[in-house]
Amino acid sequence: MGSIPTTPLRVLIVGGSYAGLSAALNLQDLCTGKPPRCGPKPVEGQETPIPSQQFDIDITIIDERDGFFHLIGTPLALADHSYAAKTWINYTDLPAVRDSSNINILQGTVKHVDQVLKTAKYVTSTTKETKTVEYDYLIAAAGLKRVWPVVPQALTKKGWLLEAGKHTDEGTKGRYGVLVVGGGAVGIEMAAELKLVRPELNVTLVHSREKLLSSEPLPDDVKEKTLELLREGGVEVLTGLRVKKTEEVKDEQQKTFYRVTFEDGKTMLADQVSFAISRPVPATEFLGEEVKDDEGYVKIQPSLAFPEGSPNNFDHFAAGDLVKWSGIKRCGGAMHMGYFAANNVYQRIIGSRTGKTPEFLQLDEIPPMIGLAVGKNAVSYWPQSGMSYGEDVMKLFFGDDLGFTICWDHLGLGNGKGPV
Ligand SMILES: Cc1cc2nc3c(=O)[nH]c(=O)nc-3n(C[C@H](O)[C@H](O)[C@H](O)COP(=O)(O)OP(=O)(O)OC[C@H]3O[C@@H](n4cnc5c(N)ncnc54)[C@H](O)[C@@H]3O)c2cc1C
Repeated sequence: MGSIPTTPLRVLIVGGSYAGLSAALNLQDLCTGKPPRCGPKPVEGQETPIPSQQFDIDITIIDERDGFFHLIGTPLALADHSYAAKTWINYTDLPAVRDSSNINILQGTVKHVDQVLKTAKYVTSTTKETKTVEYDYLIAAAGLKRVWPVVPQALTKKGWLLEAGKHTDEGTKGRYGVLVVGGGAVGIEMAAELKLVRPELNVTLVHSREKLLSSEPLPDDVKEKTLELLREGGVEVLTGLRVKKTEEVKDEQQKTFYRVTFEDGKTMLADQVSFAISRPVPATEFLGEEVKDDEGYVKIQPSLAFPEGSPNNFDHFAAGDLVKWSGIKRCGGAMHMGYFAANNVYQRIIGSRTGKTPEFLQLDEIPPMIGLAVGKNAVSYWPQSGMSYGEDVMKLFFGDDLGFTICWDHLGLGNGKGPV
């Protein structure tokens, strides 16, 4: 084993969240002779294989945000100020990135990728200058665009704390309560977390279909158990009902509240109406049309490489929510794909330096699976084991902090230390 002395290879990663950080950190492991952190776990009595070749590598991550945001934690962060502060860690405070000599972070929005020239143009978040980066390999990991309050719109931690704080304060005034619109996974978690943190509030969830999670390919018993646990947790759930209009009203002290009219003519008052219904859009505007499907998802091959026929396609990979692949979009899937993309870039590097045919990891079809936090309980559905639910499932899937420590440890973000 040894390092082949050459100019460092340049890998550009667009998006520095679950998929992007997984790609960067696993690639760094491989290129520095360490077993990849998200790779197969060591088996007792067997030697863990270590990467056979080391390479000088410069990994650049470009992200619009100034830090890693634990997106899964949003529903709790919008109900709890102190948790909100924990969910966003500036990259300059993230040990695995801050202390790495291989990984460089730039804050900006990637606008265009030229697959032939292997250059990317991005606009810096602070000065709004357009800059160009050259690369040898690219991994697109920019996820999905989602609207407020499903995800932060702020690009800085400071801005996130302001928007989240305002939202929490508005929702917890405690006069009329909160209406969450949309009984998909996000709406369910938003309503359940709020009721868990502030049990004295009236929290109502309204969903237009008869069953919750209606657009997810999950068995009915999962949907029914979720409804039961939500109601058990004190959330009032209205199904088969649509919101017709929402009007802003001022009381005699000029404080704002909302009058909501449903399609059946009934009305309710709420201190806050949170919409969790918009359709997310892949953040792939910077890629050519030929690599995307009609909705904008990247048409990856099982190796996560860009589709056949697009320029330099085996130097371009995509990982995480923005890919067109089977399965429910999940953070575990995003981190797993990040590891596969890292491995396959590493294989391409070996191939380019030695002429060896790359041994790509290939993504299998992903069946529907989910872990859903419903207040103090969680519901999970895994094809092998079917449905499970309860407080022990919550502990297993989310720990004590809605999955923050689990993701942190899986990605090794603290270089051996836990989150602060
Ligand atoms: C409210 C909510 C709750 C969820 N709960 C769960 C859960 O309980 N369990 C679960 O498994 N999954 C859950 N998910 C899904 C999970 O969060 C996603 O599957 C996961 O975030 C995908 O990771 P990603 O890295 O692909 O994309 P993202 O996490 O979306 O990250 C994309 C990154 O790319 C950056 N970016 C975007 N465009 C550009 C650009 N043009 N230039 C530069 N940077 C860019 C963004 O700033 C962001 O940092 C939840 C999602 C939401 C919204």
